[in-house]
Amino acid sequence: MPPTDAARLAALVRAAGAGGTVVFTGAGVSTESGIPDFRSPGGFWTRYAPIGYRDFMADAAMREESWRRGLHTYGAIVAAAPNPAHRAIAAWWRDGLVAGVVTQNIDGLHQRAGLPDMAVVELHGSAHRVQCLACGALYDRPSVQARILNGEAVPPCLVCGGILKATTISFGQPLPPDAVTIAEGLLRRARLCLIVGSSLVVYPAAGLPRLTLAAGGSLAVVNATETHLDGLAALVLREPAGQVLDAAARALGATSDERPP
Ligand code: NAD
Repeated sequence: MPPTDAARLAALVRAAGAGGTVVFTGAGVSTESGIPDFRSPGGFWTRYAPIGYRDFMADAAMREESWRRGLHTYGAIVAAAPNPAHRAIAAWWRDGLVAGVVTQNIDGLHQRAGLPDMAVVELHGSAHRVQCLACGALYDRPSVQARILNGEAVPPCLVCGGILKATTISFGQPLPPDAVTIAEGLLRRARLCLIVGSSLVVYPAAGLPRLTLAAGGSLAVVNATETHLDGLAALVLREPAGQVLDAAARALGATSDERPP
């Protein structure tokens, strides 16, 4: 990677000033952690057709299939560790440069890199929690995985018998309104929206970075393949996110590589 690319990214983050950058991430920020994205070769969609919300609700066989897939996909999430891109973003947050992270990811790796929950807006929910769609009871995912492994193909809510679902957002399911409101506020106030590892094709999330542009801020894109916002961005980098963010963090002199145990 040419060193100037990381230096240019560092210069944009520096110019945005204290709390001036909001990072918008997608599945591509986590591929270097070993979690496949949706659309690249080998990604989830090349193996599984997505199960939409309506099908999940209407058909117990779909719920069983969803939990069966989850044994594999959630296993991959649990086995993954934050990579240099997650760590660079967390370091910028600790250094006061990043106001928050708006993520489409469900893997919790930004938090595991050291960001507190309050600094991460999870637009598509989290794979780590499960909720009853009838009474709202919450469960941690490992406890539900354990019930499946013990033979409950479609585990019901232990409180009311209702349908359980991971707190991830399926196609056809609305985004959590609070998360959208917070994300919109962050992106409108951002002087720089740094997009990392998103194809920007899943709406409504993919439309949010335009709020920064509309409010007079600028965009930077770090993504392996083209996005529809490339032509509007101040900087577009095609390098692997971990490599380029790590180099940019070094160029900025981001201090802390301290991570919680
Ligand atoms: P996507 O799969 O549509 O796009 C990922 C993008 O990242 C692609 O354009 C790809 O070229 C790029 N990319 C892959 N590896 C990269 C790397 N190392 N460096 C730079 N760029 C890289 O994902 P999306 O835009 O997030 O949207 C799809 C949906 O996928 C989201 O709703 C998200 O919830 C879900 N998803 C999440 C995870 C996760 O939590 N890790 C994994 C798979 C899918």
